[in-house]
Amino acid sequence: MSLLVFGHKNPDTDSICSCLSMTYLKKSLGIDAIACCLGEPKKEAAFVLNYFGVEAPKIINSVEEGDECCLVDHNEFGQSVDGLEKATIVEIVDHHKLGGMTTSTPLSMNLKPVGCTNTILYSMYKENEIEIPREIAGLMLSAILSDTLIFRSPTTTEYDISAAKKLAEIAGVDIEEYGMEMFKAGTSLDGYSIEEIVNMDFKAFDMGGKNVGIGQVMTLDIDSVMDKKEDFLDYINSAEFDMLYLVITDIINEGSYLLYKSPDHIVGNAFNVEPSQGVYVDGLVSRKKQLVPNLTPEVEKI
Ligand code: MN
Ligand code: MN
Repeated sequence: MSLLVFGHKNPDTDSICSCLSMTYLKKSLGIDAIACCLGEPKKEAAFVLNYFGVEAPKIINSVEEGDECCLVDHNEFGQSVDGLEKATIVEIVDHHKLGGMTTSTPLSMNLKPVGCTNTILYSMYKENEIEIPREIAGLMLSAILSDTLIFRSPTTTEYDISAAKKLAEIAGVDIEEYGMEMFKAGTSLDGYSIEEIVNMDFKAFDMGGKNVGIGQVMTLDIDSVMDKKEDFLDYINSAEFDMLYLVITDIINEGSYLLYKSPDHIVGNAFNVEPSQGVYVDGLVSRKKQLVPNLTPEVEKI
């Protein structure tokens, strides 16, 4: 019987890549394994698979009694495949907190407080003296860069950085350059209309009797918005809000570009910038912690 290797539901790049790299490791050790996933790869993972020419894992929706399972990048029933309670969990490799799972049989577990499951898998390749082929190194590197936001996330450890450097050498890519390309592809706004982008993550607020809308988009695909700046402004200005702010947040550089229907001085005072359409505000990333508390007193003044 084959070992089913899979990551969590709603799979991210780490879940897709760690099931593939774990499956390759198992096969190299003479164990029959199948890489599975609990959903289609998203834009970012699809870019990675295409870049390194690797086929997506097989999609499964449930497992049955008697199936042997290896969990990567998660350790909770609620995040896992349907039917797992009845199946046999033989191994878990993960970097999350324990989620209350119980098992009927003993199992292998490799849990470490690092930034990515593939950092743990890298050390497993080393321990087992298995050579990592270029495309598997590329997948593992991509997952580390994805989970750690190219080492900018506070979850990043020295183990993630040193594994990523070795993997980048094998994969033959430059970490920053490749990482940015991957994030750009993963956050691409291709195929969305102006209306969809403004309303993607939109909230309305009452600030001193004024109806204020704030839409936020996390993307590295800034150009696709700025190239159509006038069209965005036409839409924003026609909206039924006293003020409307479209916040385009660059998660890697930790700042946001603003397009707005608002008196200029409110933008200037709230964010301490020379106000203009498309202005970049360094350090601005959170609607709840920064946008709303900074805008509210300025809007209330008028
Ligand atoms: Mn994950
Ligand atoms: Mn992960």
